[in-house]
Amino acid sequence: MKSSNDEFQLKGVAAAPGIATGYAFILDKQEFLISPRSIMEEEVLIEIARFEEALQKARQEIVDIQQKVSEKIQAQQARIFDAHLMVLEDRALIDDVVKRIKEEKLAAEYVFSEVIKKYAKVFSQIEDSYLKERVSDINDVGRRVLKNLVNEDKLHEFDGLDEEMILVSHDLSPSDTASMYNKKVLAFVTDIGGKTSHTAIMAKSLGVPAVVGLKDATLKIHNQDFIIVDGRKGLVFVNPTEETKEFYQGAKSRIIEFQGQYESIKDLPAETKDGVTVELHANVELPQEVPTLKKYGASGIGLYRTEYFYMNRVDLPSEEEQYTAYKKVAEGVGSNEVTIRTLDLGGDKFISSLQIPKDMYSYLGWRAIRFCLARPDIFKTQLRAILRASAHGNIRMMYPMITGVQELREANKILDDVKAELREQNIAFNEDMPVGVMIEVPSAAVVSDLLAKEADFFSIGTNDLIQYTLAIDRVNEQTAELYQPEHPAVLRFINMTVEAARKANIDVSLCGEIAGDPILTVLLIGLGFEKLSMSAGSILHIKNLIRNINYEDAHQLVQHVLKLSTGVEVEAYSRRKLKELAPGFIVDN
Ligand code: PEP
Ligand code: MG
Repeated sequence: MKSSNDEFQLKGVAAAPGIATGYAFILDKQEFLISPRSIMEEEVLIEIARFEEALQKARQEIVDIQQKVSEKIQAQQARIFDAHLMVLEDRALIDDVVKRIKEEKLAAEYVFSEVIKKYAKVFSQIEDSYLKERVSDINDVGRRVLKNLVNEDKLHEFDGLDEEMILVSHDLSPSDTASMYNKKVLAFVTDIGGKTSHTAIMAKSLGVPAVVGLKDATLKIHNQDFIIVDGRKGLVFVNPTEETKEFYQGAKSRIIEFQGQYESIKDLPAETKDGVTVELHANVELPQEVPTLKKYGASGIGLYRTEYFYMNRVDLPSEEEQYTAYKKVAEGVGSNEVTIRTLDLGGDKFISSLQIPKDMYSYLGWRAIRFCLARPDIFKTQLRAILRASAHGNIRMMYPMITGVQELREANKILDDVKAELREQNIAFNEDMPVGVMIEVPSAAVVSDLLAKEADFFSIGTNDLIQYTLAIDRVNEQTAELYQPEHPAVLRFINMTVEAARKANIDVSLCGEIAGDPILTVLLIGLGFEKLSMSAGSILHIKNLIRNINYEDAHQLVQHVLKLSTGVEVEAYSRRKLKELAPGFIVDN
């Protein structure tokens, strides 16, 4: 089915390494990929009853959520659901579905998905901004009813794939990406997104190559086009020539060869030639990843992003469920350290069980620790679960997006209350569980000396620290070029934080994406980090690098770059130096 078009190349943001070749599958987010299923005459009434039951169930779910929301957030937010209920009670829509089930003898889910698509289309074409906005209500309700008609998993479009494909989409939410685990997706490419968007981070976790921020890939690539995705360089080749195919076949073989070589260092320490050891931990998004960590040579989990646990579901996870998952994660790495981060909701990560106010989508808004402090019910449930799990493993816990000492104290106050409750109930937990702070907001870096007096450890989150320092939205492809980890301001904040931790004698590590970027890893080693956490897939590559350099050289490199004036200069100098320090090392593996 190869298109006869000539080869062309698209350049985007390299989001997850690796090379994939295959046919494109264009994912239209508004579509529900439900296949038609014929039914017998005698099944018509059963299908209609199933449809009515699904509507009824959806109605009940919405009323329940509406009640919860109006009790716990603001009554105004709960009104969104009135629009959802109106869609469900629309007689014309219901009659249309029933009529078509009878006449066309097709299953309810297919007929309903077609009717809802038709409605969404009609609304989207109306020249009235209020009515246009109702399209998302229609789609939301559509999804809810369909979920009651078919297995929820089936609603994720990736299940519509029955052969291995490269997914091409305008955007993918982190929760979409999370549901790709173990699916037939070879790679994905998107129009929007930046290097450290959570969708990109998730792709790395899944070991799926990804290029994001291609701006108009969904317009230029067609279904079934043969494409090559180069996740290392951020390139996509559409209808590649034989020559390009051969080139990438060779590149793929070289990657496999490299991986083979890494096998021999898997169980060796990440130790520089002059004897400085760096602990390399993994960032984990899904508990399913834990059993695979050993093969990547991770010596612990430096960041467990718990928010994925809250996604792709209609309710909030209970304490018991969370406890079981955290315990399993801790037990999965034996005596190694696991750093669990409390819920970091907001920005590009949101959960379906709460109807999220618009403000949460803002990176500067009501999110992460702010949300948790405002919703102690949700926060306490998680804290109880983490504390209980701490009795079963080497668990540390840290708070995201702390801006200063006040917030740390408020969070710790809630933690103390939870601990008191557990003691009273005679429930075991580790009284000495270390409690740390993520340094990912400039204000936190500036007061890191003050925070160091009240925190057990620091973990620097450069993905956010960079975006907040440089005022560059991490998910925005338009500004992707300006997202500059080597900017002197960022380096100074990191250095400042390391110094503060050192003075207070507390542990400091770094868990942003730059930890897995060779050019920056050398700088980080030179800055004195003894613990770095990164996507599991980067660990062996970085371990190989560390084993090939001298700490002393890295330290000198840092002394030099700290005096440079621009990020471009820092990057160029570090790249040149890296070639000198580790001649055989390939930067983009
Ligand atoms: C960070 O901000 O650097 C970080 C590690 O956390 P996240 O990417 O989940 O925001
Ligand atoms: Mg962050």
